[in-house]
Amino acid sequence: MKKTQARKTDTDKISNADGAIENFKAVCRRAGLRVTLQRVAVYEHILGSKEHPSATMVFEQVRKKYPEVSLDTVNRTLATITELGLANMVPGDGRAKRFDADVAHHQHFCCVRCGKIYDFECAEFENMKLPRHIREKFKVLTKTVFVQGICGKCR
Ligand SMILES: [Zn+2]
Ligand SMILES: [Zn+2]
Repeated sequence: MKKTQARKTDTDKISNADGAIENFKAVCRRAGLRVTLQRVAVYEHILGSKEHPSATMVFEQVRKKYPEVSLDTVNRTLATITELGLANMVPGDGRAKRFDADVAHHQHFCCVRCGKIYDFECAEFENMKLPRHIREKFKVLTKTVFVQGICGKCR
């Protein structure tokens, strides 16, 4: 319960899609990047998607509106958005990179049959203490848990 509230607060400032798009434009401008319609369309798509789409999946959708967009542009835009900290790459199994515009901390379950990625939250994972020698030797920036299995639909 508490965790859900914390997550909401994290994303409060970008709690609605329009606000998030405005924030994206502002972040681009601050980074000296041009705010192109295609860039916005790519961000808009991952923002509205619960699928954790791959570049190809984003490309298939964005090209419906912008037929002139290329897969290369989509790839580069996704890399830029990730660098700007407005999306994360979902740790994967070596298949196509998948992207998530929900940057609040959460865990992922990936189905090995259909490739679907499901979000979940787990306080135990979040609070997991790393072994002492790791904590002493390294500066830990992020911890993530990636669970693979077979989803309910594929069982
Ligand atoms: Zn599945
Ligand atoms: Zn996610």
